[in-house]
Amino acid sequence: MSQVLVLVDHVDGAVRKTTSELLTIAARLGEPAAVFIGQGYDAAAASLAEYGAATVYVVEAEGLDEYLVAPKAEALAAVVQQAAQAGDPAAVLLASSGENKEIAGRLAVKLESGLITDAVDVQEGPVTTQSVFAAAFTVTASVTRGTPIITVKPNSAEPVAVAGVTPNVVTVPVTVSDAAKGAKITERRPKEKSGRPELTEAAVVVSGGRGTNGDFSAVESFADALGGAVGASRAAVDAGWYPHSTQVGQTGKQVSPTLYVASGISGAIQHRAGMQTSKTIVAVNKDPEAPIFELVDFGVVGDLFTVLPQATDEVAKRK
Ligand code: FAD
Repeated sequence: MSQVLVLVDHVDGAVRKTTSELLTIAARLGEPAAVFIGQGYDAAAASLAEYGAATVYVVEAEGLDEYLVAPKAEALAAVVQQAAQAGDPAAVLLASSGENKEIAGRLAVKLESGLITDAVDVQEGPVTTQSVFAAAFTVTASVTRGTPIITVKPNSAEPVAVAGVTPNVVTVPVTVSDAAKGAKITERRPKEKSGRPELTEAAVVVSGGRGTNGDFSAVESFADALGGAVGASRAAVDAGWYPHSTQVGQTGKQVSPTLYVASGISGAIQHRAGMQTSKTIVAVNKDPEAPIFELVDFGVVGDLFTVLPQATDEVAKRK
């Protein structure tokens, strides 16, 4: 069975949930193999085994963490070459983030392979599903040249643990080239922690729009009751009510959670572009004619300041 390489997303060995999702998808396509680049593999090992990585390629070249994406693309290319000794990999999967999409692009150039970004599903083939043109179309696509390189949106699969896997660990020597040292990281400033999950990875996102009139307390309370992240429409961000880092849409973040709750958001096409691939969409809007109701699974016509606190209380009662 051909290997399917999964780039491990981690911070000093703490593995993100997106990696377990990708390992689960990889198991559909072939034999899951994780690619761990950087420091901290020991901390990551158990999690990679738990989600079925039969092989782990570990790249710990000096300087890898000091430079921007180019060395990671070089490292990944070296791993693909190493993996090819056991037969060409069936695919390389990366979680869709800004950094990973840049790595994927560079890798595709190096390998002269086709690239698919922002897939919301990957099935045997590999055949991918994407939502394109501001979510106006759903497209299925396959790479026709080289090793398929595919970036997959967070929450595209439910991670499935696999018992009894002991990965074969392969160390891959890589020397970072001078060409890849074009930009060096001079400082890392951790983001202020809100205690909420990262917006693009959260299983639940509750967003507020102009209808909040700047008061996000009901939106935040409902998000916290569900253990979710808080998002915002551009109208709310432009008004200065919520940070731009939380904007969902064409010019903001792309989210694909299990549950998306739009409160006081009309449903403009540019907002839909960032959330339409969510599994279940709920809207709370006091205008029954609001366009958001065209795409929801459940709609509540009402004032968000009445509906959300009631929903929050109900969730609290069931905990
Ligand atoms: P509105 O359209 O004003 O809707 C507010 C809604 O709240 C209304 O439906 C109203 O009925 C409801 N409401 C009011 N009070 C209450 C209440 N108390 N309870 C319940 N409901 C209430 N937008 C994005 O969101 N993300 C983007 O990335 C983005 N990118 C853009 C890029 C471009 C190039 C352009 C031109 C626009 C972009 N926009 C984007 C803007 C987009 O077109 C809309 O203007 C924006 O999404 C509207 O935000 P809203 O739904 O919060 O506000």
